[in-house]
Amino acid sequence: MKNLSARARIALLVIASALPILALVIYSSFMQREAAERDEQQELRLIAELVAKRPEQLMESAHQLLIAIGSQGDHLLADRMECHLYFRRLLPEGGGLYRAMGLTLPSGDVFCSSTVSNSGGSANVRDRPYFRMAVESGKFSVGEYQVGRVTGSSGINFAYPVMNPDGSLKVVAFAGLNIDTFIEQGESRREGLLYALGRVVTILDRNSIVLAQYPRGRARVGEKYPNTRVVEALSQPGNGMFTAMDQDAVSRLYAVENAGMNPDGVAPLRVIVSTPSQMIFAAANQTLRRTAFGILAITILLVVVAWFGAEALVLRRVRTLLEVADRIRTGDLAARTGFGEGDEELTRLGSALDSMAQELQIRDGELQNALQRLNHQAATDQLTGLPNRRYLWEALGAELMRARRKQTPLAVIMLDIDHFKQVNDRWGHEAGDLVLKNVTYAIRAVVRGSDIVARHGGEEFVIVLPEALEEIALARAEAVRSAIAALQLTYGGESLGTITASFGVAITRKLSETAEGLVRISDQAMYEAKQGGRNRIVIKNADTGILDTAT
Ligand code: GH3
Ligand code: MG
Ligand code: MG
Repeated sequence: MKNLSARARIALLVIASALPILALVIYSSFMQREAAERDEQQELRLIAELVAKRPEQLMESAHQLLIAIGSQGDHLLADRMECHLYFRRLLPEGGGLYRAMGLTLPSGDVFCSSTVSNSGGSANVRDRPYFRMAVESGKFSVGEYQVGRVTGSSGINFAYPVMNPDGSLKVVAFAGLNIDTFIEQGESRREGLLYALGRVVTILDRNSIVLAQYPRGRARVGEKYPNTRVVEALSQPGNGMFTAMDQDAVSRLYAVENAGMNPDGVAPLRVIVSTPSQMIFAAANQTLRRTAFGILAITILLVVVAWFGAEALVLRRVRTLLEVADRIRTGDLAARTGFGEGDEELTRLGSALDSMAQELQIRDGELQNALQRLNHQAATDQLTGLPNRRYLWEALGAELMRARRKQTPLAVIMLDIDHFKQVNDRWGHEAGDLVLKNVTYAIRAVVRGSDIVARHGGEEFVIVLPEALEEIALARAEAVRSAIAALQLTYGGESLGTITASFGVAITRKLSETAEGLVRISDQAMYEAKQGGRNRIVIKNADTGILDTAT
C-alpha cells in the first residue's frame, strides 16, 4: 500500500465506491428472484386449478349421465338385446367422449354394453377397483387407468350403483372415458401462454399413471410417472407445491391439484404443473447480469477517467511541487511553482512552498553577503587595509601554481622598517601606526596592479612579483626603498625623521620552493640586509642559494 502511486490509490477508491452499488444490485436481484418465485407459484396454482376444471366437468357429466341411465335400470334389464342396442345408440351421442358404457350386474358380469363382442361372451369386472368401490360405497366412483377387457382401448371408468327399494344393489351403470379426451384438451390450449417458460402439465390417475402430458414429454400415457421423486411427493393427498429434480437433473417447481373425489377419500385424478426453476429466475438472472456488466463498464470508465483526470487535476501539480522541492533541496532557491493565490489545497501548498523558497533566497543572499564580508575581513589587515598573512599564503600558493604552469619566474620581496620600535618609544604607538600607513601608501604607489602586497606582521611587508626576473625585482625593491626613504612624516607638529626599511628579495625560476620556503628565503635575505647596515636590499636566488647584496 505504501508503494502504491497516488493514481492507483484513486483508482482503488473508485473501485471501492462501486462495491456498495454492486451489493445493492445483488440484493435487489435476490428480492426479484424471490418475487419471481412467488409469482410463479401463484401462476402454477392457477394453471393447475384451471386444468383440473375440465376433468372435474367430465366426471360431473359422466355422473349425470350414469344417474340418467340408472333411472331406466328396470326397463333396460328387461331385454338384454334391447339394452345392447340402447347403449350402442347412446355411445356416439357422447361425441367420442366415451369409449364404452353399459350395465353390470351385482355379480360383476356385464349385462349389456355398447361394445359387447359378437361372439356373445361377456366380461366380468368384479375385480375392477371402480366397480368394487361403487358396490361397497353405494356411490358414484371413478376408476384408475385401465385397458378395456372387451374394447382393448384405454381410459378411465366410472361406475354408478343403482339400488332396489329394499336397499340391495340392483345394477351398476358404467361408462369408460376415452383417454384421448385429456390429450385433446392439452393440444387445444397449446397456443396459450400457459405452456410458455418450459411449463409442463401432466394429468395422472390415483396411482400416478400418466393420462396426458403436454407439451408431450418423456412421460408415456398409460405408464407410471417416470420421476420417482415426484411420485413420492404425490403420496401426500392434498393440493400443494414442491421443488424436485427431474430426470434430467433439472430443478423444477411443481404445483399439484386434485380433480374430483372418490368415496374412499382419494382424488381419482391429479393435475401437476411444473416449471424449470432456471426459467423462473431467468429474468432476474438476466437483469443481474446486465446490471453487473453495466456497473463493471461504468467502473472501468470511471477508473479511466480518474486515472487521466487525476493527472490533469491533481498529479501534474503534485509533480510540479515535488520538482520544485527537489530543486530547492539541491540549492536552486530561485525555483517556484507559480501556482499563484487560491483556496484549493494544492494551490496553498504551492504558494507556501514559493514563499518559503523566496524567504530562503533572501536569507541566503544575506548570508552570502555576510560571508563575503567576513572572508574579506578575515583576509584584510585593519590598520593598513592590506591583505594579511593568511591571504598571502593563499595568493602566493596560487601564483606559484600559475608560474609553474606558465613556466615563468617569480620574486618575493620582504621588507622590514628599520628601528621601528624607536618610533613607538619616542612618539607613541599612534605615530608608529601613522608610519605603517604611510609606508603602505609608498609601497602601493610603486607596485603594479598584478603584484601582491601583504602585511606579513608588525612592521614587515611582503610583495610578490609574478614573472619578475632578478633585475625587475631589484628595480621594484629599489623603487619602494627610495619611496619610503623619501617620506617626510610629522606627528603632533614634530618631524618623525627619515624612515628606512631593509629589503630581502628571493627570486626563483625553477619554482621548486613552496610559498613558505620562498618567504623564509626572502626573510633570510632581509636579515642579511639588516646585518649589512639596514636601508638596503639583499637578493637571494632560491634555486642556487647564492646571496647577492645590492644597495
Ligand atoms: P630593527 O631595525 O632591527 O627591525 O629594529 P626594530 O625596532 O624595527 O625591530 P623590533 O622587532 O625590535 O621592533 C618592532 C616593533 O614594532 C615592536 C612593536 O611594538 C612594533 N609594532 C609592531 N606592530 C605595530 C603596530 O601595528 N603599530 C605600532 N605602532 N607598532 C607596532
Ligand atoms: Mg621586525
Ligand atoms: Mg623593524
